[in-house]
Amino acid sequence: MAKTEPAIEISAELLARLHRIHRQVTDLQGQVDRGPRRIAAGETLVQKARQAVTDAADAIKRSKLLADQKQLQLREREQRVHSLQGKLNEASGNREYELLKEQIAADVQASSVLSDEILELLERLDQLEIDRQTRLRELDERQIEQQRLAELVHGEVMAARDELVRAEAQREEAELLIPAAGKSEYLRLVAARGEDAFASVEGDSCSGCSQMLTTQLVSRMILSQMIRCPNCNAFLYRRNPN
Ligand SMILES: [Zn+2]
Repeated sequence: MAKTEPAIEISAELLARLHRIHRQVTDLQGQVDRGPRRIAAGETLVQKARQAVTDAADAIKRSKLLADQKQLQLREREQRVHSLQGKLNEASGNREYELLKEQIAADVQASSVLSDEILELLERLDQLEIDRQTRLRELDERQIEQQRLAELVHGEVMAARDELVRAEAQREEAELLIPAAGKSEYLRLVAARGEDAFASVEGDSCSGCSQMLTTQLVSRMILSQMIRCPNCNAFLYRRNPN
């Protein structure tokens, strides 16, 4: 046999109002908390765009270095061809002459390959520069976008903070109407569950957990007694009390 406690009277209107205010507080607090995360997410995108510009510049640097190296090699080859050609006239025999000819042919061939490679690299450098310009534009756009986002979020957070102050004041005002006997129970449950400390009754069921309620419990609720759902523990109230 459950021990009989004196019934605490509380109006459905007050519980509905408290429920609404707590929902509002949760929602506004969420908006305030999400603000910095939204800005940080945008900042990550700016960082990525900035990294893409750095990567594009690095690719240009690497290709330029490679082109310079190959140009140096090409000049060395050409000089060697030149000096080998000079030696042709001084060749002491057919065999030496043929060997020089072969060497010159090999060097000319190698020079031609180098020239092609250098040309390819220069074309690639043009493309890389176009790419870098694109990345720079993207970074610019991203930064402007981030500036806009930061201003927007800042404004929204400020507005949510103001509304939060108003909602907290409404909550305090409404809490003054809670009967003293039920106050500590209310504070305990609200501290633990926030807006889920309340549930309206739809038909004969708790809207918080869908539990069917006994007729006895529903009658007590109709008599404006402070009751809680036997399943989910929420304070129960009629949605449309007369
Ligand atoms: Zn319930």
